[in-house]
Amino acid sequence: MNIGRPAHSPLSQFPVIDDCLWIGGMALTQLAARVGQTPFYAYDRRLLSERVALLRAALPPAIEIHYAIKANPMLALVQHMTGLVDGFDVASAGEMKIALDGGMPPAAISFAGPGKRPAELAAAIAAGITIHLESYRELETVARLGQEQGRRPRVAVRINPNFELKAAGMKMGGGAKPFGVDTEQLPDLLDRIGALDLDFQGFHIFSGSQNLRADTIIEAQNHTFELALQLATATPAPVRLLNIGGGFGIPYFPGDRPLDLAPVAANLAHWLSLVEKRLPEARVVLELGRYLVGEAGIYVAEVLDRKVSRDQTFLITNGGLHHHLAASGNFGQVIRKNYPVVIGNRIIGTEREVASVVGPLCTPLDILADRMELAKADVGDLIVVFQSGAYGLTASPAAFLSHPPCLEVLV
Ligand SMILES: *Cc1c(COP(=O)(O)O)cnc(C)c1O
Repeated sequence: MNIGRPAHSPLSQFPVIDDCLWIGGMALTQLAARVGQTPFYAYDRRLLSERVALLRAALPPAIEIHYAIKANPMLALVQHMTGLVDGFDVASAGEMKIALDGGMPPAAISFAGPGKRPAELAAAIAAGITIHLESYRELETVARLGQEQGRRPRVAVRINPNFELKAAGMKMGGGAKPFGVDTEQLPDLLDRIGALDLDFQGFHIFSGSQNLRADTIIEAQNHTFELALQLATATPAPVRLLNIGGGFGIPYFPGDRPLDLAPVAANLAHWLSLVEKRLPEARVVLELGRYLVGEAGIYVAEVLDRKVSRDQTFLITNGGLHHHLAASGNFGQVIRKNYPVVIGNRIIGTEREVASVVGPLCTPLDILADRMELAKADVGDLIVVFQSGAYGLTASPAAFLSHPPCLEVLV
């Protein structure tokens, strides 16, 4: 039936027992009873730990792994990550609070983002975290606030590089961008940091997200290291932090295949030997969001109705784009593609059918699966959307249409 059509990458992270998905050591049906409601998100501790262990085993040991909290800021998950990774990247004072509440030491927290408010900058200076400067104005504000507090703010410079991460889902560097400071303006900005006597840490170069191709990640990393080594000759203090971004993707859609880490790791090992000689004080940091948490999470909704309209079967659920905008195809996708979806309590089922899974919202955008082959489902069955651990609940318009809120559990 699927001949010639690309399929989803096989998913094996969750066991299936008696045709029911298991997560966190229990059947999904039992977890749903424990949570006490649908819809909910469930994130699996074991998978979070295993993913970091896999990265540590593959990458050179000197590479530090940071978690970008915006991918999933649930406090219990962030607390779990505190024990696994070397630092957190935050993008607001709200995320900074979660990072600190989660127990990460301030020296291991960095704050990037293009529009930091003075109150956020003041809080970051008081906390002693590293501020990634994104503009001249921000630099001047940080220096003034530091003086007012009698503290020497720790700063790094976020660079908008003169290259792009090709084939990335979302480009965040290269060309004209609101993120970071253009390479051309850096010598001047570095002079100013020296004149203002800020505690200069180093550079942050993040060029994009959701990349599944090792060759393009390697190309971006090559440009990043070349640029950093070149700029390091003109810094106000030795480079102690080199955040090389991340961009590691996970397979979401039919045809996507997992990223091959081995060539990326080999390339990093090559650069690390150079960095150790030229920038002996530098910690090299990889910042990852979805790669660390995306595959460890599922979204679960319940079938409220099934109906057939002009030969097409619709499963209508109590969950939808108000909880999971990305699965509906409205979070950065150009052409809508299906996330991997199954009927969680009957994976294979007794009968198969092609059905569309939609949410309860009164908008044609509220689609969780468009004409997918699934086990034949009925009212009360549980729809599972895989690859949902990142950019799920907090990246969705929860208030749209005033439906009940969604719960999240860490299992
Ligand atoms: C969003 C973001 C990340 C995380 O991106 P992922 O695709 O989730 O890995 C990392 N760094 C910065 C600066 C970001 O803005």
